[in-house]
Amino acid sequence: MAEPKENLQMEKIVSLCKRRGFIFQSSEIYGGINGFWDYGPLGAELKRNVKELWWNTMTRQRDDVAGLEATIIMSPAIWKASGHVDTFSDPMCDCKKCKKRHRADQLCEDQGLTLIKNADGKFALPEGTKCTNCDSKELTEPRPFNLMFKTYVGPVESEDNVAYLRPETAQAIFAQFKNVLETSRQKVPFGIGQIGKAFRNEVTPRNYTFRSREFEQMELEFFIKPDEAIEAIHGSVVTVPETGHPGEPQPNWGWQAWHQYWVEERVRFYENIGLSRETLGFHRQTPAELAHYARACTDILFKFPFSKQDENGNVAGDELEGIAARSDFDLSQHARFSGKPMGVFDDELRQAWAKLPKEKQDDLWRRYYENRKNYLTKSAKPDETAEQIQKQATDDANGLAKGQYIPHVIEPSAGVDRLILALIANAYTETTKTDDKGKSETIYTMKFHPRVAPIKVGVLPLLKNKPDLVKKALAVRDLLRPWMNVYYDDGGSIGKRYARQDEAGTPFCVTIDFDTLGEKPELLDTVTLRYRDDGRQERLKISELRDWLLARVR
Ligand code: ATP
Repeated sequence: MAEPKENLQMEKIVSLCKRRGFIFQSSEIYGGINGFWDYGPLGAELKRNVKELWWNTMTRQRDDVAGLEATIIMSPAIWKASGHVDTFSDPMCDCKKCKKRHRADQLCEDQGLTLIKNADGKFALPEGTKCTNCDSKELTEPRPFNLMFKTYVGPVESEDNVAYLRPETAQAIFAQFKNVLETSRQKVPFGIGQIGKAFRNEVTPRNYTFRSREFEQMELEFFIKPDEAIEAIHGSVVTVPETGHPGEPQPNWGWQAWHQYWVEERVRFYENIGLSRETLGFHRQTPAELAHYARACTDILFKFPFSKQDENGNVAGDELEGIAARSDFDLSQHARFSGKPMGVFDDELRQAWAKLPKEKQDDLWRRYYENRKNYLTKSAKPDETAEQIQKQATDDANGLAKGQYIPHVIEPSAGVDRLILALIANAYTETTKTDDKGKSETIYTMKFHPRVAPIKVGVLPLLKNKPDLVKKALAVRDLLRPWMNVYYDDGGSIGKRYARQDEAGTPFCVTIDFDTLGEKPELLDTVTLRYRDDGRQERLKISELRDWLLARVR
């Protein structure tokens, strides 16, 4: 049977990644370990560039975001409060015949079916579901499988010492919210960003690095005022169109505008590193898909070679990043579970509230009360009574009237590894060249945007046995090296060296030739600069080279 085209494309990408040192299987010499991947020399540079660009864009270039670097293992109480201990699971089922284990929702999806969720929260397989490995219809009922990796802290392996490898970086941000607020001199609205490892014991890792068991996330928690506070201060909450960038943040933005702002900011980020809007897709979660506390969630998708086509041949793509409006759920949970206050005091709100007509105060009070009661009811602990919940919601609404609230949050949460895979798939280009004798050859070019390219410039002396050329080339290398990743290559014909850099995705090469040394006096101290994508060449002064390159690779 013919290999489906998209898998062939993935196979070629996987093969290039291994051949050129972008991605290797973890523990390969021992047969590998499913769901774990290592980044080779080029992959490591690519990843570093992506993370640095995210960090710069999201924290350093903004006044309203601070950074954090927290531990991977944290108090298990965090995962209790966040809901991960009780509900962070995927439905899993086994084939009774061949024993293959499946993620039940994916198994159904692969067969054009939908997993059934019963009113009691339990899952069931729809009629006709079969094992994709052996076609047997004898499958166990789906059961939840918690995705957190468990370990023990200290020498005793007891239940008291259980800890988890974090399944997301976000929770540390919530847990450190107060510390960051107090030390960074930030005021709501502001954000906290973090990049770091996350671990999920995925039932079926697949699609290369797309679904791994160890991966990295780049997450921002952007804290905003509740809409009732905005309304009290500014008279009304501004909403923005659901398409397009809403422009510079405004004080009267509510959660909807902030959410739209972050979706568009993140799209700009992707466009800035070479993923055009046409390569992306969007999925706005439906009310049925949303978590009970979430107001909205927009996934930014990338059209991977393995992404499925719908019946009309359209490809939506697979998730790169989710941007969720999570209400005040997260900080509220930590406030309740830790017993530590997570609210902020907003003097502008207190003053504005005092000036509101009684009717408006009552209206806002009531709406805030209802929202809080709704949250408290849905996340009530078993021993909490309706009276307690009402009292707490009343206290919270009274707090609002005095300028106090728990911030709401917009969360753009991106996966580094998925982005790396998207950048690799997007950059991969294959061309076939036929020479005069009719011999054809396939040329591979990784057309990375210069900002993410692992190597920014190749420095090549035309010949390696001419000391003057080599000396000059080494001087050019040393001139550029403090500023960017340079690759010096003197091995083989110049054509071969260009081809090597094309495969590595190096956007520019400079060649030091006899004209550089002054063979044509007017070309003294100039180099040949070659563009990766079209092979175009031009002459550039060495004295201008650094700034010319920096303008393009940063
Ligand atoms: P999916 O539905 O694909 O499992 P998710 O919605 O559970 O993803 P989130 O919990 O929103 O993912 O995590 C945020 C981001 O982290 C995702 O958009 C993705 O880029 C990345 N991510 C999540 N799980 C994995 C994984 N197993 N491997 C690689 N990246 C991941």
